[in-house]
Amino acid sequence: MEFYGIKLNKGGFAQCPFHADDSPSFKVYDDGFYCFGCLEHGDVIDFVSKLFGLDAKEAAEKLAADFGIGDISFCPVKPVQLEKSEDEKNRERLNESWAVLCDYLHLLWDWKNQYLPDRKDENWHPLFCEALQNTDRVDYLLDCIWDCQASEAPALLEQIGGEIDRYRTRIEQERGSEIHGRK
Ligand SMILES: [Zn+2]
Repeated sequence: MEFYGIKLNKGGFAQCPFHADDSPSFKVYDDGFYCFGCLEHGDVIDFVSKLFGLDAKEAAEKLAADFGIGDISFCPVKPVQLEKSEDEKNRERLNESWAVLCDYLHLLWDWKNQYLPDRKDENWHPLFCEALQNTDRVDYLLDCIWDCQASEAPALLEQIGGEIDRYRTRIEQERGSEIHGRK
C-alpha cells in the first residue's frame, strides 16, 4: 500500500487516508487493512476502490495495471489454459476409441436383427456374418478400455489403434451407404 502513499510507522500503523487522522490509526495486514479511528476496513481491492472511488472491478484492474497482478477472481483476463498432460490426452483418445466401438457395436446389433436368416440353409447376409464375427471382439475391446489404468493407456492405444481406425472407416462406409440407400 506504500505505492498509494501509505507510510507505515514502526508499529505498523499509518495515517488513515479515509479520515482526518492525527495519530496514525490505520493498520495494514497481510490480507487487508483496518482503521481504528474511522473503522474503515477491507481487503486491498476495497482499499483501492475507496481511495480512488472505483467499483471492485475497476479497482482490480487498477491493481493489475499498477502491479501487473490481480486477484484472479476479480481479474477480467481469462486464466491461461494449461497444456494438457499426457494422461489427459490418452484418456481423450481412449474415450474416442470407446465411442467408435460403441457405434460399431450398435451397427452389429442392428445387422444381427435385420439380417437374421430365415432358414438354416439360406445364404447368410454378409452383414449378418460380419456381426457374428466381430461382436465378441468389439465387446472384448470395450472391456479392455473399461479396465485400462492410466499407466497402461499408451500401450493399449498403440495395440488397438489400427483396429479402431478400421472400425471408424467401416462406420463411415455404412453411414454413406445408408444415406445413398442400400440395395
Ligand atoms: Zn480512518
